[in-house]
Amino acid sequence: MDHDKIVQKLRAFNNNRDWDQYHNIKDLATAIGIEASELQELFLWKKEDELNVLLEAKRDKIEEEVADIFLFLTMFCYKANIDLENVSLKKMEKNNLKYPVEKIKGKNSKYTEL
Ligand SMILES: [Mg+2]
Repeated sequence: MDHDKIVQKLRAFNNNRDWDQYHNIKDLATAIGIEASELQELFLWKKEDELNVLLEAKRDKIEEEVADIFLFLTMFCYKANIDLENVSLKKMEKNNLKYPVEKIKGKNSKYTEL
């Protein structure tokens, strides 16, 4: 499903419930953070060698939290009149300049340390 169709479905879901009135950009930004924390909580205190087992054991819950983050982000963007796909592509171009392959390949340094 492409992003525009997801936006349409999400807007219809909210409009049918008259929930748009509750979705201001401050609360949507907060909701993104809360959902990201819910995702983080699933991995909290787990050791590196437990992560793949955990991923399979809790895959359904992890997928739900990922979807929650995406849906609130999508709602934030349509409320703030942000083209999520466009700004993401622009940011990737910026990152491409910040992290030139010839300087960063195989390293995890910050761009200021290249
Ligand atoms: Mg959630």
